Amino acid sequence: MYRIKRNQIVYAMSALNQPVLRVENGATVLFETCDCFENQIKSVDTEFEALDWNRINPATGPVYIEGAQPGDILEVKIEHIEIADHGVMMTGPDLGMLGDRLSKNVIRLIPIRDSKAVYEGRVELPLKPMIGVIGTAPAGDPVACGTPGEHGGNMDCTIIGEGTTLYLPVNVPGALLAMGDLHAAMGDGEVSVCGLEVQGEVTVTISVLKDRQLPLPLAKTASSMYAIASAKTLDEAVLDATRNLVGLLTTMTNGTLNEYDAVNLLSLTGNLQICQVVDPLKTVRFELNLQYLQQLGITL
Ligand code: CA
Ligand code: CA
Repeated sequence: MYRIKRNQIVYAMSALNQPVLRVENGATVLFETCDCFENQIKSVDTEFEALDWNRINPATGPVYIEGAQPGDILEVKIEHIEIADHGVMMTGPDLGMLGDRLSKNVIRLIPIRDSKAVYEGRVELPLKPMIGVIGTAPAGDPVACGTPGEHGGNMDCTIIGEGTTLYLPVNVPGALLAMGDLHAAMGDGEVSVCGLEVQGEVTVTISVLKDRQLPLPLAKTASSMYAIASAKTLDEAVLDATRNLVGLLTTMTNGTLNEYDAVNLLSLTGNLQICQVVDPLKTVRFELNLQYLQQLGITL
């Protein structure tokens, strides 16, 4: 297995990034990751002004996958996530949904013990480790790691965790996969602008799929498939996710399920869910239980 150190990082997903590792199709790679502040916050008294804000949302990588060519799909199976024994959060003016009401920046350090996070000594939370930032390089202009998009990026999607398979576009030779911004726990929406930000280690198996047409990014868990979309507004993101999933259903049934039937099926049993509403673009996911794909004879 390959390992990438957490000091091998980028702040934008870009075709110009130099790969830190080249691997064969099917390789398993462990990414050591920093938290989204690049581990700069050591105490609740850390001065905001003392933080280097150019070092936010680092992603470890990128990895060049041999044989990956534009038009292919990268299949990233998330095998395992390890997280540190504490995490950090912050919110304040101009951050999150209450940013216009908050007058000062506040940092919280949150211990993680016995597989639970303990918030301010009084609320125990179950852990649900997830990857906030994961993506491939876009073909055109670089995209900052803090922004989500068709290439993946800062999707802050709670279902991108252990056991999930994520499908991402290959836009440039080698794909240039990078990831970071682990959360030990996060609620859908991420309303304060933070999850429980932690450093950690992510082990993934990376495969290249040829001649496949899927709307991307797409995620698959043991029970469901999720079309993920990011846009300026939630309304636009919802429209994109719906169109993408309808397109998948009609295409993969060779048109035997038409648009009317596909949208009806989603209306009956699909679930629109918010990923996050606090990043430069907002992200949603549209869930469809795998049993319906099975009944329609669709295999991903
Ligand atoms: Ca994030
Ligand atoms: Ca984060």
